[in-house]
Amino acid sequence: VGVLASIILGFAIFYLGRQQLALPAIIRSALRQDEFFLVYQPIVDLRTGAWVGAEALIRWRRSDGEVVSPDVFIPVAESSGLIQRITERVVELVSRDAVGFFERRNHFHIGINVSSADLHDERTVDMLKRLVGATKAGPGNLIVEATERGFTNPLTAGKIVHRLRQELLEVAIDDFGTGYSSLSYLQRFELDYLKIDKTFVESVDTGAATNQVVPHIIEMAKALNLAMIAEGVETESQAQFLRERGVQYAQGWLYAKAMPFEDLRAKLGAN
Ligand code: C2E
Ligand code: CA
Ligand code: CA
Repeated sequence: VGVLASIILGFAIFYLGRQQLALPAIIRSALRQDEFFLVYQPIVDLRTGAWVGAEALIRWRRSDGEVVSPDVFIPVAESSGLIQRITERVVELVSRDAVGFFERRNHFHIGINVSSADLHDERTVDMLKRLVGATKAGPGNLIVEATERGFTNPLTAGKIVHRLRQELLEVAIDDFGTGYSSLSYLQRFELDYLKIDKTFVESVDTGAATNQVVPHIIEMAKALNLAMIAEGVETESQAQFLRERGVQYAQGWLYAKAMPFEDLRAKLGAN
């Protein structure tokens, strides 16, 4: 049994290892074959329920029809130097979707996720500047979502953030609370929004120890004058908890799942 088990294990390691090696090559080919697309998840005003924005979320539909989650391929793209090509594709897709969109919806925003490599490369500023031009975005129409992990070199990333804000984009700190997250650390960057990570929103209902953290995060955001977006809101009691404590915006299945841009546009038209 021992020998058999080790043979099976050996095969499993070999197989998984091969898959790991192959994935960057498959991602490269997916970029060429145009297999990535975007869905948009609405962000609502917690007081009125109105849709005030949407986050662009990437999806990958493989040729066999299977849709792969970004949790699978974004980390691989990041570690294999492909993430900037993915971000570039996302920006292309948004610029296609949002042509003429902000002219009629000048208070609406679209959030775009960027990675550490993007935040340390001046070309990101030029790319997003072109997006502002192509979509005729006004102040606050485009929000860049960066995680704390994105600020690997705070000095360089801070400069990029500064330049993005000069180009009238706004900046959100994403997945807040999952990383370093000290007040003094955050103070160093010019930010507009803080997105409260869904693990903390979840804890509001479960009574987990982390639910003590949410009020602290809210206080931090207030001290820094940042607007807050709570992520992963699934229940009315979570929404109420957040609303009562002054969180302005929320995103989650309680309100809407991510959808194709045409659906977003259609639903907004009907509102
Ligand atoms: P994220 O930026 O934190 O995005 C929010 C994730 O939470 C999305 O997962 C969304 O579908 C999910 N979500 C929204 N509402 C709820 C809810 O009520 N309950 C629960 N349980 N989940 C909810 P998704 O689309 O699978 O994206 C996962 C992550 O992949 C994102 O997390 C982000 O880190 C990354 N990602 C997605 N799109 C992009 C992209 O275009 N570029 C980069 N660099 N990363 C991306
Ligand atoms: Ca995000
Ligand atoms: Ca997030």
